[in-house]
Amino acid sequence: ETLQTKNLIEQTEKYGANNYHPLPIVIAKAEGVWVEDPEGAKYMDMLSAYSAVNQGHRHPKIIQALKDQADRVTLTSRAFHNDQLGPWYEMICKLTNKEMALPMNTGAEAVETAIKSARRWAYDVKGVTENQAEIIACVGNFHGRTMTAVSLSSEEEYQRGFGPMLPGIKLIPYGDIDALKAAITENTAAFLIEPIQGEAGIVIPPEGYMKQAYEACKENNVLFIADEIQAGLARSGKMFACEWEGVDPDMYILGKALGGGVFPISCVVSSKEILGVFNPGSHGSTFGGNPMACAVSVASMEVLIDEKLAERSLELGNYFADKLKEIKNPMIKDVRGRGLFIGVELTEPARKYCEALKEEGLLCKETHDTVIRFAPPLVISKEDLDWAIERIVKVLG
Ligand code: PLP
Repeated sequence: ETLQTKNLIEQTEKYGANNYHPLPIVIAKAEGVWVEDPEGAKYMDMLSAYSAVNQGHRHPKIIQALKDQADRVTLTSRAFHNDQLGPWYEMICKLTNKEMALPMNTGAEAVETAIKSARRWAYDVKGVTENQAEIIACVGNFHGRTMTAVSLSSEEEYQRGFGPMLPGIKLIPYGDIDALKAAITENTAAFLIEPIQGEAGIVIPPEGYMKQAYEACKENNVLFIADEIQAGLARSGKMFACEWEGVDPDMYILGKALGGGVFPISCVVSSKEILGVFNPGSHGSTFGGNPMACAVSVASMEVLIDEKLAERSLELGNYFADKLKEIKNPMIKDVRGRGLFIGVELTEPARKYCEALKEEGLLCKETHDTVIRFAPPLVISKEDLDWAIERIVKVLG
């Protein structure tokens, strides 16, 4: 570490709240899969800002959309219409094959929106008694950091000192169909699930579970809501991770790569029956649906489609996972994933290996202590991936 990196980290630690524990690297520049520190050292990004940069850092088409829109209008609020929102609505609805969308800014806000719509749907459409609606979520979930999202969590540290938590939440083990069936009551509004649990360490439910869970929801008039903020938008080798089991959820929650890592935008998409419960005054956000976010998001979706990033993720992900599985080391407990969304679970804490990989020029982050998540931008070339594999073999082999 030279002076500039050192000073910038010191400044950050002196004035910033201590709610993150980043690797000791400062990123000052980025392009595609590569990032650069202030001293000019280059690293490959194998995290992609938790899958927000699926399209690669500063994709030229997305940056162009940002610049063009910045020269026209950036914010109108929803007190007026703007000329970018309509086209964005149509595009997100066509991409997800849903009837309606509601834009917000961050993932957690979209989760809030999903919970509000599910509860109001339960009262207005399903006929649940006022204030009795229940949401079922899964142990190990990550839905964000707002009070609703942490109320859904099973992690003690996400809740400690923040109580009281939101009532009306039931947690069940992830991947256990009998637990879901037993948890559903006449008051159940929705079952909220990540089709692949990202923060929990790239955890994939047993084969057939998603489909069975969807059917159990349908039999009981319960909404099936898929949080695809991290797993969706081509990351798992399909446009949506629910496609792995042919499930068409009642609602998708999207974020991260929806703005190409360039501008924050999130949303829920669903049917008219469900999102129709909102009326003027019932929900909103000053920045939600702003023209910058919409213009950037349309370009971000176009890149995913035009560059076939889901197919690319699937093909390169299979290649990458095979190479990782070949590494012989007893401390590697499991290699799992879908597409370029891969977790390597170790028998010991992963942090020191992430630090060693950083020394080799590769940036990854441990998740849940013992798992290294490999999730490079989906535009990565096979040559760059081979470069990464060489270094991973050196560190983990
Ligand atoms: N849901 C899932 C599945 C996530 O992975 C995340 C972020 O990691 C969120 C929700 C929260 O998104 P945000 O950090 O944009 O609020």
